[in-house]
Amino acid sequence: MKFEDSINNASRISTAVLTQMARHGVAATPLAYHLWYLYISDANTELHQAMDKLLAAKRGLLPTKIEQLYQQFVPIDSDNSRITDQVAQVSQEVQHIIDDASDEISNTCSEASRYTHELDQTSNGIDEDLSADELRDIINSLVKETQHMMEHSSQMALRLNTMSGELTSVRTQFDQVKKESLIDSLTGVANRKAFDVNLTESMRDAAETDKPLCLIMADIDHFKKFNDTHGHVVGDKVLRYVSKMLQRVLKGRDVVARYGGEEFAIILSDTPVSGANSVAEEIRRTVASAELQLKSSAASLGSITMSFGIADYLDGDSEENFIQRADAALYDAKDSGRNQVKSVSAA
Ligand code: GH3
Ligand code: MG
Ligand code: MG
Repeated sequence: MKFEDSINNASRISTAVLTQMARHGVAATPLAYHLWYLYISDANTELHQAMDKLLAAKRGLLPTKIEQLYQQFVPIDSDNSRITDQVAQVSQEVQHIIDDASDEISNTCSEASRYTHELDQTSNGIDEDLSADELRDIINSLVKETQHMMEHSSQMALRLNTMSGELTSVRTQFDQVKKESLIDSLTGVANRKAFDVNLTESMRDAAETDKPLCLIMADIDHFKKFNDTHGHVVGDKVLRYVSKMLQRVLKGRDVVARYGGEEFAIILSDTPVSGANSVAEEIRRTVASAELQLKSSAASLGSITMSFGIADYLDGDSEENFIQRADAALYDAKDSGRNQVKSVSAA
């Protein structure tokens, strides 16, 4: 399918989506639109069947039902679904470019074989008795054919050149998607997926090299209360601030990831518990001593504190065990009054 065709196809689906939604009395919210788009483009068989059934029942589609369908059939994590969409779009674009290129190549091949055939025919037609005029005609026709072939080839070179440009831009998009898929969109630090991959690699390295490896789990204290007092938007800003601060203290040497909500994980390769302890203490002190203030207002938000749990890697540890021990140390830090660092040996 040519690129313009795919755009036509998308706008055809769009029109059908909006028409159908209007016919069923469904408001075109982004969520409902996305759901209907998936339904009509037949991208999701299970969703298609469920929607067919519901529409056949003619009981109308309330917003709550749409939300429920969305949660059931479309990936819940908005980050992931966005990335899945992007990957699907990029791979579709690559497919179009490849299709166009192979059309172009097969056109040129048939053009070249037509040309060879033409030359064959002409050379068969040449014999000694040809008059000068007949010979001129043959040469003229050969020149014409050759010009035609050259034009075709240069057009093909031009189009392949355009396609190669398109492929470069798709590759850039793809690299961007790949990068985004490993970053937490709110805070910009590594996400849970990147953490999992990094932890497995770091554990493998530690097992091979016998170098010490530590894991710090860090959690903001009483963050629920902070959110309740100042609102989620301010809470989000604090998560971004904490992430920046973690990156600043760690100076890019170690992997810092958002493990979940207001919990961060730090992987410290080639670091013994004493080293991890110093790092965690430095973070703890820096966070606790900062007075938070919004750029837009002079009023102070007070300060926040964090609790830390440290575990060191033991030979034969599974990821689960390793994380569990750091978590146990973190709980110990919480139980002991928060705003402190505990390591698993002391737990
Ligand atoms: P504790 O000291 O025991 O950790 O108490 P806590 O209130 O921090 O812990 P709890 O697990 O009870 O609550 C975590 C809170 O973190 C819930 C929610 O308000 C907040 N939170 C989690 N993720 C986010 C987020 O992405 N943005 C914002 N603003 N808040 C979040
Ligand atoms: Mg907390
Ligand atoms: Mg927590």
